[in-house]
Amino acid sequence: MPQLEIHQIPVLSDNYVYLVHAAATGETAVVDPAVAGPVQDALAAKGWTLTHILNTHHHGDHTGGNLALKQATGCTIVGPRADATRIPGIDVQLGDGERYGFGGEEALVFDVPGHTRGHIAYHFADSRALFCGDTLFALGCGRLFEGTPQQMWTSLGKLRALPADTRVYCAHEYTQSNARFALTVDPANAALKTRAEEIDRLRAAGTPTVPSLLGVEKATNPFLRADDAGIAAAIGLAGADPVTIFAEVRRRKDHF
Ligand code: ZN
Ligand code: FE
Repeated sequence: MPQLEIHQIPVLSDNYVYLVHAAATGETAVVDPAVAGPVQDALAAKGWTLTHILNTHHHGDHTGGNLALKQATGCTIVGPRADATRIPGIDVQLGDGERYGFGGEEALVFDVPGHTRGHIAYHFADSRALFCGDTLFALGCGRLFEGTPQQMWTSLGKLRALPADTRVYCAHEYTQSNARFALTVDPANAALKTRAEEIDRLRAAGTPTVPSLLGVEKATNPFLRADDAGIAAAIGLAGADPVTIFAEVRRRKDHF
């Protein structure tokens, strides 16, 4: 049974920040607070008191609100052990396979390096929620600023293994441009074509396309499908290993 109430806050040009509230314990976390002000406004509107910050990685559009929120609330800041020195105000360090109790649930933590060297994801199994920062996007994945294609493919493989009914709470609204790119490397995928049309309808109405369902990502996101024969053939790499295919898809996206 889902127990956590999740509230999406659009900030900056295309970031999503999430409030995660547990009525059972009264705890409230914010995931990747890019900025403090809109988070404080949302907390006030909901009548929730901030107790935790959950960071996925060090980038400023994910940690920019850390210190102001901690100063205002005394909240606990949780983040990746592998990048602890770059997480402002970090109190609790987590790494691969560790569990963190929050709101009467336990989040399972995955190390998912690739976008940055110390990126983590939080999976709340009971609430079927995945907070994956800039590792997995709707129809996309993060740029490889500090990691290799092999690392990112391995990281995405950990997330792909989660249940199909998991909601993917990623940190950016990049879906429409991701869809245009995805169609260039997976043109025969009927589910992708249908999804791209739906995304155009949602965006025309100003509706978020995030969160998405992991099962839908598995069927349509080219960065989760580097071991799919159709994509390999479409980009002229039939028979190549998945890491080679993933690297080529990522390279093409960088220049799209
Ligand atoms: Zn980032
Ligand atoms: Fe980001």
